[in-house]
Amino acid sequence: MNLKVAQTLRKIVGEDNVLELLEDILPYTLDASIIYRGVPTCVVRPHSTEEISEIVKFANEQRIPVIPRGAGTNFVGAVVPSNGGIVIDLTGMNRIIEINPANLTCTVEAGVVHAKLESELAKYGLYWPPDPGSSDACTMGGVIAMNAGGMRALKYGTTRDWVLSLKVVLPNGEVIKTGSKTFKGNAGYDLTRLFVGSEGTLGIITEATLKLRPIPEAENRISAYFDSIEKAGAAVSKIYMAGIVPAAMELMDRGIITAVSKWLGKKFPDMDAYLIVSVDGLRSEVETLSNKVEQVLKESGASQVLRATTKEEFDEIWLIRSEGATALPNITGKMNVTHDVCVPINKLPEAFKTIREICNKYGIPVAIVSHAGDGNVHAIFSVNLQDPEESARAKKAHDEMCRYIIKIGGTISGEHGIGIDKAELLVEEVGPVVMELMRAIKRVFDPNNIMNPGKMGL
Ligand SMILES: Cc1cc2nc3c(=O)[nH]c(=O)nc-3n(C[C@H](O)[C@H](O)[C@H](O)COP(=O)(O)OP(=O)(O)OC[C@H]3O[C@@H](n4cnc5c(N)ncnc54)[C@H](O)[C@@H]3O)c2cc1C
Repeated sequence: MNLKVAQTLRKIVGEDNVLELLEDILPYTLDASIIYRGVPTCVVRPHSTEEISEIVKFANEQRIPVIPRGAGTNFVGAVVPSNGGIVIDLTGMNRIIEINPANLTCTVEAGVVHAKLESELAKYGLYWPPDPGSSDACTMGGVIAMNAGGMRALKYGTTRDWVLSLKVVLPNGEVIKTGSKTFKGNAGYDLTRLFVGSEGTLGIITEATLKLRPIPEAENRISAYFDSIEKAGAAVSKIYMAGIVPAAMELMDRGIITAVSKWLGKKFPDMDAYLIVSVDGLRSEVETLSNKVEQVLKESGASQVLRATTKEEFDEIWLIRSEGATALPNITGKMNVTHDVCVPINKLPEAFKTIREICNKYGIPVAIVSHAGDGNVHAIFSVNLQDPEESARAKKAHDEMCRYIIKIGGTISGEHGIGIDKAELLVEEVGPVVMELMRAIKRVFDPNNIMNPGKMGL
């Protein structure tokens, strides 16, 4: 790193908070995408908005790329420093500033880990509904910057629906506040929602005020097996048509059922699909809803319908869902490469089948799990990433899958975002005019293109 850059950064954040030795910066060369790599010039670990503002102002003057980073759990290469630059590690900014039960809001710093917030809110009988599966690691800044979803999104929406206000350091170092602590707000363009899902390309979120809800009194889970993916998909629509909005509907294909069965040495029914429906609310209401769900599932051709009400029963029903990602690499001896697309709900069975056909064509084993209630499909490819030829085939299968999804009216990302992984495909979904509008927005905020450059096709 050049001496002036090193001296300036050390002056801002202190000697110990600038990392430049290869062994220190190695963890920052990749993220959960696994595929993408890039070496940063250095890593800085600030502890206040003021420090971040000074770093970014300096980087902008020097035209040095800046990459905001939370826990690095994203699947799309969104924090990989593909153009070098300064990685800003936000995990040190981890204070919960305020929990306000009377106003149903909380304010947190960007580095607060999702699960930590969840456990603190639970002390007040409150929760923040978005529930990414990476809760134990991911930071609230990363969750907001990726507009993370989760299993409860079908009833409660995604991150976008639960963020009221943000403190952001712009690419020129200026600090702004968007939105307010109110549940409604119509004061001009909605910049809060523009930053949600912006993948660190427009500015660095340092604080967020979030909308909260009381924890539902009760939750039941009902599981069912189907002998065809069509019947399972139809059941998902029929549950809505029966007037029920569950908290979650998780659908797994035979690939997941078989892998978990082999991995745990446990026998499951020899079936094509496994569906778990979760309902929440007041205790009395949850009983009625569970009865209705069971009835719809049976009428839709389900077998072995089971209802869980205790923690042990919950865990038993959940086993195929929770162990799937661990079972696959242990069974195939290859790495999981998790892809994320979203389709109209009525296209789920077709999407499951076509994704499998595409993967078969390229010789890539695939297992599919879906947040079925909102059409979000995760296709887990098993790939030997040491083999360039196999990796290239997996990439072709991925791109063909995304193009098929666009053709049937779906989207190339339901919740994992674009990053590097889907940067080239984004224009195929949104078209050149919308893509140019996105680039124009980027230029307004970041005319020197220092903020996480090369991501989202910008
Ligand atoms: C096991 C596992 C399960 C997962 N389950 C889900 C799931 O259910 N739903 C889901 O949506 N995702 C899921 N993910 C993906 C990932 O966890 C989420 O995208 C998460 O929100 C990323 O948070 P992070 O702190 O790791 O962010 P990072 O990966 O560090 O960063 C992600 C992006 O946010 C930007 N960023 C980070 N912090 C800031 C900030 N303070 N200001 C501005 N930009 C910032 C980065 O530049 C980057 O573009 C999962 C990942 C794993 C590994």
